[in-house]
Amino acid sequence: MRLFNLLVVWFLPLVPKPIVRLFSKPYVAGPKLEDAVQSVKDLNSRGIMATLDVLGESAQAAEECAQAVEEYLTVLDTIQKENLDSNISIKLTQLGLNIDPEFCYDNIRKIVAKAAETATFVRVDMEDSSVTTLTIDLFLRLQKDFSNVGIVIQSYLRRSLDDVTDLLKTHTNFRVCKGIYVEPRQIAYKDPQTVNDNFTLLVETALKNGSYVGIATHDEKLVWQGLRIVHELGLKKEDYEFQMLLGVDEELRDIIVRSGHHLRVYVPFGKHWHAYCVRRLKENPKIALYVIKALFGLR
Ligand SMILES: Cc1cc2nc3c(=O)[nH]c(=O)nc-3n(C[C@H](O)[C@H](O)[C@H](O)COP(=O)(O)OP(=O)(O)OC[C@H]3O[C@@H](n4cnc5c(N)ncnc54)[C@H](O)[C@@H]3O)c2cc1C
Repeated sequence: MRLFNLLVVWFLPLVPKPIVRLFSKPYVAGPKLEDAVQSVKDLNSRGIMATLDVLGESAQAAEECAQAVEEYLTVLDTIQKENLDSNISIKLTQLGLNIDPEFCYDNIRKIVAKAAETATFVRVDMEDSSVTTLTIDLFLRLQKDFSNVGIVIQSYLRRSLDDVTDLLKTHTNFRVCKGIYVEPRQIAYKDPQTVNDNFTLLVETALKNGSYVGIATHDEKLVWQGLRIVHELGLKKEDYEFQMLLGVDEELRDIIVRSGHHLRVYVPFGKHWHAYCVRRLKENPKIALYVIKALFGLR
C-alpha cells in the first residue's frame, strides 16, 4: 500500500489535465457555477438536499480571498434565484486564515451575514490539524452573532470529544465525519475501528444533548450506527441528516433517502478543480483507490 501511495504522489503531476478531469468527473460538479446548479437541481429532483462548495484552499494572497468571498456571494444569490434546496460549505484557509485570522473573520462574516438575510445555513468545513483551534475560535465568535452556522468535527482526532463537549455549551450544529487529512498518531487515532467507535460516540453525544447533527459518511456500518442512535433516542427526521459526497456510493445514498431520512450531498465545483483533485490525492492517496474501485465497480 505504501508503494501504491508513493506511486500516486509521484505520478500525479505527470497526469494530463483531461485525464484527471475524467477521474474526477463524478466527484466534482464542474468548473462553473452553472455546472453546480445543474447537479443541485438533479439532486433536488430526487429529494436530496445539497451543500455547495466553491473549490479552493489555503489562499496566500488577499485578492484570492476577496475573489472567493465574491464567488460565495454569487452562489448565495443563485441559490435564491434558482430556488435551490442547498446551503453552503466554506473553508477558512480559502478565506484568509493563513494570512491573518482577523482578515479571515471579516471575510466569513460577509458571507454569513448575507446568508442570514435568506436564512441560508453556512457550514464551516474542518481542515488539517494545524488550523483546528483557530477554526473553532473563529466559529465561536461567529456563533455569537449568527444562528445560521455550524462546524465540522473529525472523529480521527483525539481532541474531538472535548471539542464537542465544549461546543455543546453553545448549542452547536455539527457535521461529524472521520476526517480526510493524514495526521500523526500523537493527535489522531490510527486504528479504523477506533475512528469508527469515536464517530459513533461523537454523534451520540451531540444528538443526546439536543444538537442537530449531519452524519457524514459512506461507511454503511456508521450509517447503521446513526440509524440506531436516532431510533433509540426517538428523534424526529428534522433533528438530523445524513450527508455524502457527490458521486460516492449512490446506491447507499438512495437506500437512505428511500427510507425517508433527510440526506444532503456535498457538491464541490469551481475553476480550481484540478488543483483540488491533485492536492486531495496527494494528501491522501487512499482516495485514488476509491476512485479506481468505483470506476471498475468494485466494493
Ligand atoms: C458531506 C461530507 C463532508 C465532509 N467534510 C469534511 C471536512 O470538513 N473535513 C474533513 O476532514 N473531511 C470531510 N469529509 C471527508 C470525511 O472525513 C472522510 O474522509 C470521507 O467521508 C471518507 O470516510 P467515510 O466515513 O465515508 O468512510 P470510509 O471507510 O473512508 O469509506 C467508506 C466507503 O466509501 C467510499 N468512499 C469514501 N470516500 C470516498 C471518496 N472520496 N471517493 C470515492 N469513494 C469514497 C469507499 O467505497 C469506502 O469503502 C466529508 C465527508 C462528507 C461525506
